[in-house]
Amino acid sequence: MYHRIATLLFSEDTAGLAVSPDQFECQMRYMHDRGFHCLSLKEVVNHWRSRTNSRLGKAFVLTFDDGFEDFYTTAWPILARYGFTATIFPVVGSIGRRSAWHGQDGTQAAQLMSWEQLGELARSGIDVGSHTLTHPRLSTLDPAQAADELRHSKQELEDRLGQAVTLFSYPYSDRSTLVQRLADESGYHAACSDDRGRWGLFNIWRIQCGRDDRAEVFALKVAGWYGRMTWLREETPLGRLLRRGVQRLKHLPSRPAPSPGET
Ligand SMILES: [Zn+2]
Repeated sequence: MYHRIATLLFSEDTAGLAVSPDQFECQMRYMHDRGFHCLSLKEVVNHWRSRTNSRLGKAFVLTFDDGFEDFYTTAWPILARYGFTATIFPVVGSIGRRSAWHGQDGTQAAQLMSWEQLGELARSGIDVGSHTLTHPRLSTLDPAQAADELRHSKQELEDRLGQAVTLFSYPYSDRSTLVQRLADESGYHAACSDDRGRWGLFNIWRIQCGRDDRAEVFALKVAGWYGRMTWLREETPLGRLLRRGVQRLKHLPSRPAPSPGET
């Protein structure tokens, strides 16, 4: 799961979501040299939906949220060099403008892809899914508003790109059981979040790649260990116990108190 492929100042990317072009090139080379093949999310979702027992092998999927222009100018040419594909999730109400939603506004705002660029990508085999109209936290909206975000963004993408849109990505990975059901009822086949909660077609786990992923961290993420650690920490009683233990240790004084007689 990527957002931006760009070299930015800290003030332009306080959340560390941007990966530099060199770093991204190294990561794609790593996948290529280790014999991974890149599938589109649509292929993988169709595979899961068909419930065949065949395995996908050494495969991976790339997704890019928000629809920043640097996907078109920087990431796509790198992907093309390795014969890789991707799924992009633009914020449909902001296409062609600068980002302006919470977390990607002010000094962090950046140019988003235009309809022409999206059309060219879609015709070249890049999957385009929806990331809502306005990038809200869907679980905080009333159900009718959330359904509007899901349906109208899908409809507009389909009308302008001339192809079916079946994939969705939750802004901020924010979802509830109701939001997941609304996505299903809106005609999507699957929806992506981060790597929390119960996995399913409407909660496909992704691992976020960001600025601070050194080569070793990226290798751990690819190997699946990073996701398993998150699951252990967030979702299991043992993980919660360990987390509480670490919290308690953090609150201990950093040095033992002096014993009586010591000065
Ligand atoms: Zn987003």
